[in-house]
Amino acid sequence: MFGKRIPLFKVFGFEVGIDFSWFFLLVLITWSLAALVFPAEFPNLATTTLWIMGAAGAMGLFVSIVLHELSHSLVARIFGLRIRGITLFIFGGVAEMEPEPPSPKAEFWVAIAGPLMSFAIAGVLIVVAGLGAAQGWPKPAVGVIAYLGWINGLLAVFNLLPAFPLDGGRVFRAYLWHLRHDLLEATRITSMVGGWFGIAFFALGLVSLLAGDFIGGIWWFLIGMFLRAAARSSYDQLVMKTQLQGEPVSRFMETTPVTVDADRSVRDFVDEYLYHHDYKLYPVVKTGRLVGCVSTRQIKAIPREDWPSTTVGAIAQACTSDNTVSPQTDAMDALAAMHRLGISRMMVVDQGRLVGVLTLRDLLRFLSTRLELGDTPTHRPRTLDAPAGSAAPRTASARR
Ligand SMILES: [Zn+2]
Repeated sequence: MFGKRIPLFKVFGFEVGIDFSWFFLLVLITWSLAALVFPAEFPNLATTTLWIMGAAGAMGLFVSIVLHELSHSLVARIFGLRIRGITLFIFGGVAEMEPEPPSPKAEFWVAIAGPLMSFAIAGVLIVVAGLGAAQGWPKPAVGVIAYLGWINGLLAVFNLLPAFPLDGGRVFRAYLWHLRHDLLEATRITSMVGGWFGIAFFALGLVSLLAGDFIGGIWWFLIGMFLRAAARSSYDQLVMKTQLQGEPVSRFMETTPVTVDADRSVRDFVDEYLYHHDYKLYPVVKTGRLVGCVSTRQIKAIPREDWPSTTVGAIAQACTSDNTVSPQTDAMDALAAMHRLGISRMMVVDQGRLVGVLTLRDLLRFLSTRLELGDTPTHRPRTLDAPAGSAAPRTASARR
C-alpha cells in the first residue's frame, strides 16, 4: 500500500515516518482550514493569520495522529508485540506490527489504546481552549487549540466505528474471537462488515457530491475504497498466514530447478534457456555449487556481439540474502520477502548448494488447494487507522 516512506524521527524506540501521500493530506488540511473552516469562524482575521492557523492546525493534527499510533504501539509492546514503526499516510496513520496479538485481550487493548489517547487529547485541549478564551488569549491560538481538541474527538469516534480494520472493527473482532475462539472466522465476519462500511462511505460520497460538496464527496469515496481494500487484504493476509506459517520452504520448493552452468556462453543461455522457459531469474551453478543468479537484466547490459564470447558465470550476480532462503525458512517469511521485494522466485540454498527454487506460483497453488480442502489453523495482521483525513473536508463542509 505504501510508496516511498520517509523516516523522520524516533520516539520510545519507534521509528516515525511519513508516506509521500501524507503531503497531499497536509496541503488539503492546511488549505481547508485556512480557506474554509477558520474564515467561517473568524471572519475578521487577516489572510496571513488564517494560513498560519491552517498550517498550525495541520501540524497539530500530525502530532495528534503520531500520539494515537504511539499509544497503540506502546500497548502492543506491553503485550510483547514487535513494532516496525509508525507511518503517516494520506488517510491517517498506521502502526506496523510484526507478530499478531496473541489473544483477544491483547487485541482489544492494543486497538482501544489509540482512540482512548485521542479522547484524552481532545479533553485536555478543549479544557485548555476554554481556559485560554477566559484568560483572553489571542483568538487565533484559542481557535487552533479548540479545533485540535474537536478533531481529536472526531478522530476517536471515527476510529471506533466497527469497520475492520479500523480500531473499532478490531475491538469487535477481539470480541468475536473471544466468543468463538476462532480468529479466522472473527476476521471473516468483521472484514465483511468493514466492506459494508466501505459501501456506506461510497453512498455518503454520492450524497455529498449531489449536495455540491465536491471535495467532501471525493474524500468519502476514497475512504470507502480504501476501507474495502484494507478489509479484504487483511482477511486475505490472515488466510495466507494461517496456511503458510510453520511450514518450511522445502515443502513447496521445486527440487529439480532449471539451472545454468557457469561456463555456458550468454548466446547459448539466451537461445536454450530464455527462449524456452518463462522464468525471470536463473540459478547459475558450477560443479554443483550455486555461484549466482542471472536474469534478462544482466543480459541486456552486454552488447549482442559479445554474447558468444561471454560466459554466464562472468555476468551472474552474486546471490544475496534477498533472493535466497534456506530450506528450513518459514514459508510465510519467504512470501513476505517476495512481496516486499517484488520478486516471484527465490533460490533455496543449503550450505552453498542449490537444493531448489521457490516460486510464488507454487505457494499460491498450495494455498488455493488447501482452502479448497478447507483445513485450517489460527493468527492475525496489523493495526490500521484511516481517520484523520476524513475530518478536514467534512469540517469544511459542515461549517460552511
Ligand atoms: Zn488507531
